[in-house]
Amino acid sequence: MTLTLAVYGKGGIGKSTTSCNISTALAKRGKKVLQIGCDPKHDSTFTLTGFLIPTIIDTLQEKDFHYEDIWPEDVIYKGYAGVDCVEAGGPPAGAGCGGYVVGETVKLLKELNAFDEYDVILFDVLGDVVCGGFAAPLNYADYCLIVTDNGFDALFAANRIAASVREKARTHPLRLAGLIGNRTSKRDLIDKYVSHVAMPVLEVLPLIEDIRVSRVKGKTLFEMAEKDPTLDYVCDFYLNIADQILALPEGVVPSEAHDRELFGLLSDY
Ligand code: ADP
Ligand code: MG
Repeated sequence: MTLTLAVYGKGGIGKSTTSCNISTALAKRGKKVLQIGCDPKHDSTFTLTGFLIPTIIDTLQEKDFHYEDIWPEDVIYKGYAGVDCVEAGGPPAGAGCGGYVVGETVKLLKELNAFDEYDVILFDVLGDVVCGGFAAPLNYADYCLIVTDNGFDALFAANRIAASVREKARTHPLRLAGLIGNRTSKRDLIDKYVSHVAMPVLEVLPLIEDIRVSRVKGKTLFEMAEKDPTLDYVCDFYLNIADQILALPEGVVPSEAHDRELFGLLSDY
């Protein structure tokens, strides 16, 4: 059985950073992991591989969409701790649909028989909440995770995502595993939100300069901690999230707040 995760959240909130480190944490727990970057920005797996790997869409275009000419090694790259990495890539600029790209990516990986060999597949989803690429990974996911900070905008986006999960869960066995607070030392608004809509908070990570640096270096925190054990405490945040997921939490089918309700709730302090 492959456990499939979809990581969501507002643009720039730390989805890819969090995804790479959760994937690594899962690998450190002995799991065979595939991370699929679904953002046209195609930098999801950068800290795992240290470079921008070729995207599925670029490779498909190069081979004139002849799926039979594509080998797993054309599109699947080995990252840190043995995490396999795929970047879906983007539709042609100004045209096309991100949902189509995610669909093609899954189709190709299935044709390569590359889908069932993993213990965990993690989709790192784009931040744009209206595009077709946004909802597509929910079709495949067992669990959704939402990255947010303690601010209104990210929680507003989280609430939109929760609504999508609620909708998809009508036809798919999908659960929201919980929120991951990121880049914040405060959690009062996060707590206010989850006490209103009832969803778990898996972890809250502060702003950590070394996490910012990890992006520039193209390394996960685990790789950086090999040379600098003072970073072990940061890895522990991600290991804690991985362990909670591997324990197959019940999670929730969320019921989102109404927009007006949310404005009242989060501005009233
Ligand atoms: P997203 O994938 O949501 O667009 P990224 O993962 O690319 O966001 O993160 C955006 C930037 O924020 C990156 O430079 C990353 O290093 C930085 N970042 C993410 N989480 C943290 C954190 N907890 N502390 C400090 N910087 C962070
Ligand atoms: Mg990203």
